Amino acid sequence: AKSDGRKRERFFAGEMEAQMQLRHALEADLRAAIEKEEFELHYQPLYDLSQRRICGFEALIRWNHPIRGRVAPIDFIPFAEEVGLIVDIGRWVLRRACSDAAEWPEDIKVAVNVSATQFSSSDLTRDVGEALATASLSPLRLELEITESVLMENLGEVLPILHALKERGIRISMDDFGTGYSSLSYLSSFPFDKIKIDKSFVNDIVDNKEAHAIMHAIILLGDALGMRVTVEGVETAEQLALLECEECDEIQGYHISRPRPALDVPHLLSLPRNG
Ligand code: C2E
Ligand code: CA
Ligand code: CA
Ligand code: CA
Repeated sequence: AKSDGRKRERFFAGEMEAQMQLRHALEADLRAAIEKEEFELHYQPLYDLSQRRICGFEALIRWNHPIRGRVAPIDFIPFAEEVGLIVDIGRWVLRRACSDAAEWPEDIKVAVNVSATQFSSSDLTRDVGEALATASLSPLRLELEITESVLMENLGEVLPILHALKERGIRISMDDFGTGYSSLSYLSSFPFDKIKIDKSFVNDIVDNKEAHAIMHAIILLGDALGMRVTVEGVETAEQLALLECEECDEIQGYHISRPRPALDVPHLLSLPRNG
């Protein structure tokens, strides 16, 4: 039994070393990815329910790795946050998103995801200002999406930055609303312009009365606080129809469109449902 234990130890030590090597390789690859232009932004429509048209797009990063192929954000963003690379990547995303949006009609906004690390280890206000200036994009057309983890990190440090951004006309959305431990308590700490209700709340709204009641209540809450309300993850016409009867302002999801390359944006804007 003792030698079994040692074997297992050696196995784990080997595993850990392999893990470490993988992480080092991933870090090196990620570092090189910006220069090698392996990142790409895809855009998913934000659909205004009362105007019945697309009112903006969320930028979602894609990594086209030369060997591994398309790597999903979930497989590198958390790691990039951990090792601090998200600061450089985030700066690239801001610049690209602003310059892409500058090509779109003036009434179409762009939403960019921002990680907690970008607040603590970089001058986010400056990065945003530079991205807007370089692209000659009005701050009124930019939305930044943050999750409550940004606020949890260090409220005292983050709040002044959020206020400064908001003062310039940039809108701030709370992303993945309802998934965290304390979403509700954060609602009163900052006047968000928008809440994005997480897609997990949408799944059963058509068939399940309780799920519908919860969705209804969250939408009313956001509305009562004067925030725009977006529901994420809308996949069916039935879900859309139900949300049209609520005080929901915007939806996002595969039913309108999957995230698409920047080149497809003009086509998405020209579809008849936008007429
Ligand atoms: P998120 O910000 O909540 O983005 C929405 C995610 O839901 C996207 O996944 C999108 O493709 C997916 N989605 C949209 N509609 C539907 C639907 O109808 N059904 C389902 N099942 N999923 C839908 P994606 O692109 O894989 O991104 C995952 C997460 O990675 C994002 O979640 C965001 O947290 C992060 N992320 C993506 N791009 C960036 C970025 O540029 N910077 C940072 N910091 N994070 C990013
Ligand atoms: Ca988002
Ligand atoms: Ca989300
Ligand atoms: Ca409203």
